[in-house]
Amino acid sequence: MNISTEGVKSFIPTATIESLLASQKDSPRGKIRDIIAKSLDKKRLDPEETAALVNVKDPELRQMILDGAHELKERIYGNRIVLFAPLYVGNECVNDCVYCGFRISNKECSRSTLSHEDLINETKALVETGHKRLIMVYGEHPNYDARFIADTVQAVYDTKYKKGEIRRVNINAAPMDIEGYRIVKSVGIGTYQIFQETYHEETYKKLHPRGPKSSFLWRLDGLDRAMKAGIDDLGIGALMGLYDWRFEVMGLLYHTIHLEDTFGVGPHTISFPRIEPAIGTDFTEKPPFQVSDDDFKLLVAILRLSVPYTGMILTAREPIAIRNVVLRYGVSQIDAGSSIGVGDYSHKDEESRRKSQFVLGDTRSLDDVIYELTKGGYIPSFCTSCYRAGRTGEHFMEFAIPGFVKQFCTPNALLTFAEYLYDFSSQRTLEAGLGLIDNELGKVTDPKMQASVKEKLAEMKAGKRDLFY
Ligand code: SAM
Ligand code: SF4
Repeated sequence: MNISTEGVKSFIPTATIESLLASQKDSPRGKIRDIIAKSLDKKRLDPEETAALVNVKDPELRQMILDGAHELKERIYGNRIVLFAPLYVGNECVNDCVYCGFRISNKECSRSTLSHEDLINETKALVETGHKRLIMVYGEHPNYDARFIADTVQAVYDTKYKKGEIRRVNINAAPMDIEGYRIVKSVGIGTYQIFQETYHEETYKKLHPRGPKSSFLWRLDGLDRAMKAGIDDLGIGALMGLYDWRFEVMGLLYHTIHLEDTFGVGPHTISFPRIEPAIGTDFTEKPPFQVSDDDFKLLVAILRLSVPYTGMILTAREPIAIRNVVLRYGVSQIDAGSSIGVGDYSHKDEESRRKSQFVLGDTRSLDDVIYELTKGGYIPSFCTSCYRAGRTGEHFMEFAIPGFVKQFCTPNALLTFAEYLYDFSSQRTLEAGLGLIDNELGKVTDPKMQASVKEKLAEMKAGKRDLFY
């Protein structure tokens, strides 16, 4: 792969961000209210507006932002939460990101790559718990080239086991060249995620001292190259704790605007992981810009308001209590029943800890997470229908097409949830889940749609599977 950044210019205007963060302070209540109203009116915010939100200190105004994000989620997206699991394929890595347990200089990391057989076993173990959507994760290493990634994705899609299969694979891997993205696209991936980690170039350079990832520009241009290769379903993200979270939120917004301006499509998802402790990695014990729980809630709400059309991903890095609260502020996808050691789903052993990238905050099983979501009034969804029906950018369609959620998302969520309940759930989740489905069916206002969903649910009960709109 030829790592060249010739002709690539950064679209992150560091000085402008700094000056906006310095100038947009102490905004009056009326201004904050108007900014929230603009977002509720389904408009993406401008940098000045997001800068005003990240600077809010007054507890009452902070609450107004949280309430605004909650209202936006309820109004536009409703109460569905899409579930997925991460599948770590290999932890070999040539980079030296100071915060990561997989970095090349970490002698405590036990290196491992799934063999073909291991990969099938991992997939079967995930399918057996009811998962339908995965994100496959790779270190950056010459062994994990585009062909390898494409082949491993294909092997997962080809694995049909007992009552299930994986129906959508997203990727979190190093940025590629255009040819590499084409190879990966050819096996039918969902979202390609690349986190910039920090949008603050100077900090980036300090924290990524070695390997291809040391080039800020190569990474920043990574999603542009993916677009050029025809992948338009892309995820952006920043690792919170490396630099001031306010700057990172602005960076994510500028990245969004750049993709909109250049390709006419913004990011499909935004991720905002916080740094977690990792074995042999002192940096993670006290990250220089650790984000407090209160600031974390606020930053999620601000991202929700700033880019109202994207999916927002909250991972099991966060502890249960935080996950339960932050769900309210616009999150659309969470992972559950996750293991992040290479090979952990099918074979957990003494070495697992040393094969993990970091330590998870939420280690509940998929069934426990589903039970609690149900009790909290959320519809757990395993829907993959847009991707399989060729409707790319489902989050954007949910947002932009009036009636889309009612016509597709809610019915598909109910159908995939019912499939989970019949095939995989515990008795308590089955009972709670069927009650929730009944209740949600009562809210479907179009009588034709209600009858159609009921009919499909009856078919499902009689043994049919994989029904969707
Ligand atoms: N190696 C590829 C890369 O760096 O882009 C892809 C996979 S990497 C394993 C996935 C993400 O994990 C990184 O982009 C980073 O944001 C996150 N990560 C790394 N170390 C972490 C830590 N200690 N806590 C939480 N997240 C971490
Ligand atoms: Fe390697 Fe990715 Fe970890 Fe960096 S974050 S050390 S590139 S696995």
